[in-house]
Amino acid sequence: MRLFWEAVKGLGVTTKHLVRNLWKFSLYYVGLSKDKGVVTLEYPEERREAFPRVRLRHRLLRREDGRLRCVACYMCATACPSQCIYIEAEEDPDHPLEKRPKQFIIDLGKCAYCGFCVEACPEDALRMDIHIPELAEYRKDNLIYDIKKLTEYEEGSNN
Ligand code: SF4
Ligand code: SF4
Repeated sequence: MRLFWEAVKGLGVTTKHLVRNLWKFSLYYVGLSKDKGVVTLEYPEERREAFPRVRLRHRLLRREDGRLRCVACYMCATACPSQCIYIEAEEDPDHPLEKRPKQFIIDLGKCAYCGFCVEACPEDALRMDIHIPELAEYRKDNLIYDIKKLTEYEEGSNN
């Protein structure tokens, strides 16, 4: 008998929330309220806005003259616990004594999104502020990002 009353109590709570949310959404729907209540997000047409400090996709930044800010110092690759950053350095022919990455690859399939690479970078050349949460791919190879892919988006891009 006790179990029966517990089940009734549970159903009561569910019904209370159902009625309350239906009421709130009905008022919202006819334009009498701005509160939608608790409704399921209509993804992918509707997307939740990313929090400003969220760490998502990586990008490499450029200087004002278009050169990459990265000086191929390997600090990010050294800090990376997943060992998913591969860098090959070369001398910058236009700026002797300076290095630049000939190859800069991040395997996002292995990345733990910890942000250590961003924190380790002394040049602020690497950020994780591309607000695109979808990273599903049919092939693992597509998650290997090179310089071209890492410079494709601007800050806060979301599509
Ligand atoms: S976010 Fe973490 S795991 Fe991913 S590349 Fe950077 S350091 Fe490596
Ligand atoms: S830490 Fe910064 S400057 Fe050094 S290799 Fe990584 S991205 Fe380039």
